[in-house]
Amino acid sequence: MDLGIAGKWALVCGSSKGLGLGCAKALAQEGVNVLMVARGVEQLQESATKIIAGCAHSTGSSVLFCAQDITTQVGRDAVFAMRSDFDIVVTNAGGPPPGDFRDWDREAWIKAVDANMLTPIELIKATVDGMAQRGFGRIVNITSSSVKAPIDILGLSNGARSGLTGFVAGVARSGLAAQGVTINNLLPGVFDTDRIKTMLHSNAQKTGQTVEALADARRKTIPARRFGNPDEFGAICAFLCSVQAGYINGQNVLADGGAYPGTY
Ligand code: NAP
Repeated sequence: MDLGIAGKWALVCGSSKGLGLGCAKALAQEGVNVLMVARGVEQLQESATKIIAGCAHSTGSSVLFCAQDITTQVGRDAVFAMRSDFDIVVTNAGGPPPGDFRDWDREAWIKAVDANMLTPIELIKATVDGMAQRGFGRIVNITSSSVKAPIDILGLSNGARSGLTGFVAGVARSGLAAQGVTINNLLPGVFDTDRIKTMLHSNAQKTGQTVEALADARRKTIPARRFGNPDEFGAICAFLCSVQAGYINGQNVLADGGAYPGTY
């Protein structure tokens, strides 16, 4: 299916690896021009080079990168100095650390809210009016299945991302919707990325179990009996950015292999 977005410009945050990289790759495969953002320049440059070699040569899309911390104003200013009229924005940054809520002070909360609520809101604020003027826009926020089914040790994520989800529910249904702008959240369950590997390693150290035993036990809790891969996540993101998805707006789209146990 031709998604109808070749030649558009996308800002994809947190895209040197993992889910953000999956999104950048899928969009470039559709002929979308992509500006990739992450803090570490080496990994970012390597990933951008791979996308150019893998597909951007054949689709003709431009792939740029900007090594910045997207959760800071300085970082966002540097990104928007490179380009400001994006048609597609994928918001993403690292998730907050797990832990016990008794150990989180105000600083920990501010950091989580900054990264997982206020940064996406700033990015939306900076881009949607231009999208509306041009009559087309797609925002996809990478959040988490923990918004629908909270995970106790991820309280910082549950709280901060729920704030973003509430904001998006309102703004997606504002006047922007009639001007061709959709805003949706894409909720990953368990995907095979460095973040999950890090969490499994830290659990293995705490419990004395092997990483593989813990991963197997986790897979058994998922009806699909496997972790998702970033490429399939990217393909869902690209579809949400497509012309065909213009009537999908204000939704929380779960990609979790059936792990969420609810009927709705
Ligand atoms: P990942 O593999 O650790 O990748 C995170 C990416 O974001 C990297 O490119 C990282 O590069 C970049 N990044 C992190 N902080 C950044 C910042 N402040 N500014 C700019 N770029 C930043 O993580 P992932 O698994 O893809 O997860 C992506 C998001 O989905 C996270 O918020 C995570 O909590 C959430 N999530 C993931 C899963 C899963 O199963 N993987 C499940 C639920 C939710 P640098 O470090 O170089 O900046």
